[in-house]
Amino acid sequence: MGKRIGLLGGMSATSSQLYYAELCRLTQAHCGGLTSPDLILRSLDFEPIEQWMRAGEWDQIGNLLIREAKMLESAGAEVIALATNTMHKVAESVQAHLTVPFVHIAEATAASLVAEGHRRPGLIATKFTMEQSFYTDRLAANGLETIVPDEAARGLINDIIFTELCKGLVTKESQATYMRVAANLAFDGADSLILGCTEVGLILNAGNSPVPVFDTTTIHCGAIIDAAFS
Ligand code: GLU
Repeated sequence: MGKRIGLLGGMSATSSQLYYAELCRLTQAHCGGLTSPDLILRSLDFEPIEQWMRAGEWDQIGNLLIREAKMLESAGAEVIALATNTMHKVAESVQAHLTVPFVHIAEATAASLVAEGHRRPGLIATKFTMEQSFYTDRLAANGLETIVPDEAARGLINDIIFTELCKGLVTKESQATYMRVAANLAFDGADSLILGCTEVGLILNAGNSPVPVFDTTTIHCGAIIDAAFS
């Protein structure tokens, strides 16, 4: 049996469903039989967290996630992960309060891009992740030069994440918007595309992107399972 996984989720609920399905799939692929992951999912209420995020109340978010991560550790979690890219803005403070390994989504993503020889990824994510440095700095530290969409496109991408994808809604119009943004990033020189928001795999994939796609949800789940079975 692998180590017990503690997953801080609910951000969004849709994202955590994708994580759970993928973690179960990978565990069965690793162990065979009817093996299920040894997993504690802490599903947080995203509504107040999203309001804090919009108000820039990152200290509140950090304090909540530290408290919840420590609770997972007390409940026996031996590997902890935060099932969202955006909340990695406070990942360092969370990690500093834990004694068990923390699997960082941007580190796992960077390792995957570097292993496949990519250098200039386009990034599609929330405004926070695209515009602030907490995520792109991690990628840069791994030798990656990130390209982000222009301001208007960032706004559109962000709105669709919070009004549709976080609720599990996928429309043809929004898919066309995302495909257009992906095409523009490739035109601007992106050699790959990071789906840097855990719900974006609902709408973009290898079949509708002009460059290779790196889905942070599947990459992160892979890294969590590697840590759990190491
Ligand atoms: N799940 C998303 C992400 O990966 C967005 C929701 C959030 O702000 O946590 O960034």
